[in-house]
Amino acid sequence: MTRIYNFSAGPAVLPEPVLRQAAEEMLDWHGSGMSVMEMSHRGKEFIAIHAQAEADLRELLGIPKNYKVLFLQGGAAAQFAIVPMNLLRGKAGADYINTGQWSKKAISEAKRYCKVNVAASSEDGNFTFAPKQDHWRLDPDAAYVHYTSNETIGGVEFQWIPQTGEVPLVADMSSHILSRPLDVSRYGVIYAGAQKNIGPAGLTIVIVRDDLIGHAAPITPGVFDYKVQAESDSMNNTPPTYAIYIAGLVFQWLKNLGGLKEMERTNITKAGLVYDYLDQTEFYHSPVAKDDRSRMNIPFTLRNSGLDAAFLNAAESRGLTQLKGHRSVGGMRASIYNAMPVEGVRALIEFMREFEKNNG
Ligand SMILES: *Cc1c(COP(=O)(O)O)cnc(C)c1O
Repeated sequence: MTRIYNFSAGPAVLPEPVLRQAAEEMLDWHGSGMSVMEMSHRGKEFIAIHAQAEADLRELLGIPKNYKVLFLQGGAAAQFAIVPMNLLRGKAGADYINTGQWSKKAISEAKRYCKVNVAASSEDGNFTFAPKQDHWRLDPDAAYVHYTSNETIGGVEFQWIPQTGEVPLVADMSSHILSRPLDVSRYGVIYAGAQKNIGPAGLTIVIVRDDLIGHAAPITPGVFDYKVQAESDSMNNTPPTYAIYIAGLVFQWLKNLGGLKEMERTNITKAGLVYDYLDQTEFYHSPVAKDDRSRMNIPFTLRNSGLDAAFLNAAESRGLTQLKGHRSVGGMRASIYNAMPVEGVRALIEFMREFEKNNG
């Protein structure tokens, strides 16, 4: 068996120890005689798995008591609609920060439910930076302020938390949640699809402050009403049981590593290796403003885009896969989530250096 280095933006690489443990437990979870996939979500075995996963996530992120953790389905994209459905609370509109393809999608979906005020945008700059807060034009009457704290496609990451006063702050953290410690108390709602930095596709994690629960618009589907799901421990309908189990193994893996401070240290090292290399060569180029560069998703271009196909082919033959950039940006993108080992990053840089030497 050979494992490749998978730089996919998502679904993405998972920690090898987690996959091994899942394989060992596949046919018989802890002497139950069943796979986790075969368990009733209301049986004692799965309830224990679910409770442990929530407890570990709460510990890792230091989630305060006045927040609920929901394990839902529908992906982050469903939250683009579910957030306005639950959070408008009779108000007419919400503020959105437009920093890339995912913010744009969140905005166009929210427009179906409310008035959207785009309070700041980097679209004129090709989504290559995070607008500083003194350029934001927030509406004091907004129901909430929504931003995408890490833009997976453009590789723009907020290294700071916006100040929104009494207006609840909502963040799509799909592609960098658990990559660093987080002050959850600064947020009204945090949501993330699991398939980038948590676990398998099919699970969406929502962290929501208690006072924002119970205000869903009447049209809200029951399974997407935060109150309904909070009151039933995310079991109003069958939750994505196997995805929750794998996410739980990832949380334990993170705890065993020493938690999010330690994970952040490694992520700083990994991203630093790539950016330091990009910055000292003319052959490759990073389009993102230095202060706003993502530690998770690193887009880069070859100065000579005529070499793109050759680059991707040569990388693939070295077991370095999924490096093609998103079609809206072009070039390359290396997604180096928590589960990407430092050796994978070193192998990528070594390959890039060699490719430059042979083609520069
Ligand atoms: C991938 C991604 C999404 C979409 O997630 P789905 O699970 O496909 O709905 C939304 N926002 C961000 C920031 C993402 O990276």
